[in-house]
Amino acid sequence: MNLTPDFLDQATGPVPCSQEPDLFFSLDDADRIRAVKICRGCPLLVACHAHATDADELGVWGGQTRAERRGLRRRGGVLQVPAEPVEELELDDEDRLRRECGSVKAYRAHRKFGETPCRRCQAAWDANVETERRAALEREHALPAGGSVTGYHTHRRLNEPTCDPCRAALRVQAAERRAADKRKQSGLTVVPPADDPAPPPASAAAPSGRAA
Ligand code: SF4
Ligand SMILES: [Zn+2]
Ligand SMILES: [Zn+2]
Repeated sequence: MNLTPDFLDQATGPVPCSQEPDLFFSLDDADRIRAVKICRGCPLLVACHAHATDADELGVWGGQTRAERRGLRRRGGVLQVPAEPVEELELDDEDRLRRECGSVKAYRAHRKFGETPCRRCQAAWDANVETERRAALEREHALPAGGSVTGYHTHRRLNEPTCDPCRAALRVQAAERRAADKRKQSGLTVVPPADDPAPPPASAAAPSGRAA
């Protein structure tokens, strides 16, 4: 790049973009994705991104397109460099690097950008939710009782029949609630422990020097 913003003072040698500066201002998607890939190996990425966001630079700086930097600033987000290889990404109509649809990450990107997830992303998300629920259910079934109230509700969310131990846990909980309600209705109160100080008699509350 021809510009010499302050953050470049931290460079101990030529920055990677100095080899092919045109890539960073290209209008061609493949070029810009290559530029992003080059940025990800740059030791000045974070400082460069901060500078470019503040200065609203044109082109790819700090591993993001201008549209991405603007979006990040609008959302008040923090730069996170994704771990996935840049080859798996593509630029969308608004110059944002996106994963191909059909994954949980792509679903989250739809959400992040305020879009209704597409059918493929929704299916990927639903499958992920089911996997997580099944894993949670296994943990409930591994409990000594072999099931739990949480497990019961997880069965229901999975639209499947509930198992005996989970139903038993629900029955125990319901019985405990009924007993507690009965105690409440009959006015039974909890007896305070024996070592609780008894309230002082009414006469003892008057100051000793005062005439009755
Ligand atoms: S982060 Fe990218 S644009 Fe910024 S100095 Fe490094 S290679 Fe150049
Ligand atoms: Zn999608
Ligand atoms: Zn169960």
